[in-house]
Amino acid sequence: MNIFEDTAPTSSRKRPIRVVVLGASGSIGMQTLDVCRQHTDKVEVVGLAVRSSTEFVARAAERHGVRVVAVTDERHAKDPALESLPAGCDLLVGDDALEEICLRDDVDCVVSAVVGFAGINAGYAALKAGKTLLYANKESLVVGGDLLMPLVAPGQLIPVDSEHSAIYQCLVGERRSDLHRIWLTCSGGPFFGMSRRQLLNVTAGDALRHPTWQMGAKITIDSATLMNKGLEVLEAHHLFDVDVDDVSVLVQRQSMIHSMVEFSDGVVKAQLGPSDMRIPIQYALSYPERWDSPADRVDYCGAPNFTFDRADEDTFGCLALAKRAGREGGIMPCAMNAANEVANLAFREDRCNFLDIEEVVRSVMNETKPDPVESLEQLHEVDARSREAASRALARISR
Ligand code: NDP
Ligand code: MG
Repeated sequence: MNIFEDTAPTSSRKRPIRVVVLGASGSIGMQTLDVCRQHTDKVEVVGLAVRSSTEFVARAAERHGVRVVAVTDERHAKDPALESLPAGCDLLVGDDALEEICLRDDVDCVVSAVVGFAGINAGYAALKAGKTLLYANKESLVVGGDLLMPLVAPGQLIPVDSEHSAIYQCLVGERRSDLHRIWLTCSGGPFFGMSRRQLLNVTAGDALRHPTWQMGAKITIDSATLMNKGLEVLEAHHLFDVDVDDVSVLVQRQSMIHSMVEFSDGVVKAQLGPSDMRIPIQYALSYPERWDSPADRVDYCGAPNFTFDRADEDTFGCLALAKRAGREGGIMPCAMNAANEVANLAFREDRCNFLDIEEVVRSVMNETKPDPVESLEQLHEVDARSREAASRALARISR
């Protein structure tokens, strides 16, 4: 006899989930395929989408025996690698290919691991078509949460970001009205403890040596500026319907507590585990079940002591700017995100210094009025306009 009532929803699955992976050639995409390979009895990969990594996608298509491949960059439509796609595999090309692949009848579930705002139409289309959306593409949620979240049915959108997966897991079986505060943990990034004077001289190479996670280049820079944490505050705000100021960022240098939820009675639930993105990816696929771990287990007796620090928003101004964008709302997060995407790339290409990133974001936000979000078309316009403003700000700053 069990002493507790089992409140977690149970799965009614009768056949493997049919999955497409958008951004299959990236860090999250590849780890998703790794998890899928370990659970072929439960997951069938039916489709893969990339921007231009045609050699990768052709190999992965063969390996997983997929039925459809999408390549969004038309300049790569005739790449020789695509001639070796499995027999009968459909090839979709162009910007709309991401949406088309999500809308197929033989797809139950979309893993969106595209980087940046470029993933927004696909996420919107997947939700609208009633597909389950496993969402890593945080920029789209930050920019378009006001349009995306009203489409979501319970259990339809499962976060992949490790912190949001942790929060989701802490909330299963709880009443939403009992949630008091979210403690969003943060590694602190490679430049934790540095002064602004020291930050003037850091390079993209320094930032790319992240202490805990092996990730794509864009999010690695965002982790160093703490913009990633700012995006995650806004992500939590949309996913869990909490005010921006009810999400507190907590530096947890060991990256073993993936986030915490505090309830009205003062009780805090934390989710711990190995720092391995395959765990939240697998949880999103398996929910509401749990499958065997894809990663080594932690020996907590030998684990380092846990430390907690306040995030330094004065030194890492991007975190403060993202929160400001979240408080102002409307199209402000769209402008903030576009400026950050432009400045992040400029820093990686050595066209500006580390502190210029926040300067560009601030400058574009100061030019933007937070009108309400109305449509995807409007967000695309604001995104384009903000990218132009960011390029002008960069030219001014680096002169
Ligand atoms: P990567 O840069 O490693 O990979 C990006 C992927 O997106 C590639 O497959 C790329 O294809 C594809 N892509 C980019 N633009 C387009 C486009 N216009 N159309 C189709 N595909 C496109 O990124 P990550 O895997 O690191 O990150 C992906 C998302 O997950 C981001 O939003 C990030 O914030 C989030 N995330 C990542 C974590 C991580 O550990 N990496 C952790 C938590 C969240 P191609 O190779 O052809 O260019
Ligand atoms: Mg994260």
